[in-house]
Amino acid sequence: MSKKSNRSLSKGKAKAKKQPIERFWETKTLDEMTRPEWESLCDGCAKCCLHKFIDDEDTTDETELMPTTHIAEGEQMNYSNIACHLLNDKSCQCSKYEQRTVLVPDCVQLTQENLDDVFFMPPSCTYRRLKEGRGMPSWHPLLHNGKKSAMHQAGMSVRGKIIKDDDVELEDFEDYIVLWPLHDID
Ligand code: SF4
Ligand code: SF4
Repeated sequence: MSKKSNRSLSKGKAKAKKQPIERFWETKTLDEMTRPEWESLCDGCAKCCLHKFIDDEDTTDETELMPTTHIAEGEQMNYSNIACHLLNDKSCQCSKYEQRTVLVPDCVQLTQENLDDVFFMPPSCTYRRLKEGRGMPSWHPLLHNGKKSAMHQAGMSVRGKIIKDDDVELEDFEDYIVLWPLHDID
């Protein structure tokens, strides 16, 4: 018996009709979106998996590397190119997505309920863009059949730019502060 490849078996099938995407982000507020719609807004850039540091005059040597949940007026958020050790640096996906909040307690999980935390996200983050009324960027995977290539090509993801936090001493973070995560286009 000859073995057919999946490619030859699918040859006779009618070509799937390409469905126009429903631009729900233009007609619904973030609060009105269904959970799948909300989840699909994440572009997968992984900038939120970078370590960030806030310049705070009250910081002491003891509190310097402690997590914080707020930023005060006048304080500045600095991004580093140090990424969480659980990040897959090629796909820009979390390698332990289901267990992430247990394995990395300060992993920020943005939901419709804690949308006020969106200021922790970089300016190019789709949630932040939509919250600030700046719309969907042209490179977003939702506008490219779910593919991330336009985003990588536009330099909007972390791919090729990071070092993992288990490869550096976090107290040397100042050596790793970078500006590119603050970059946004469109
Ligand atoms: S920065 Fe925003 S859009 Fe990018 S991966 Fe994180 S949550 Fe998703
Ligand atoms: S646990 Fe996963 S989602 Fe959270 S910061 Fe690390 S790589 Fe990113």
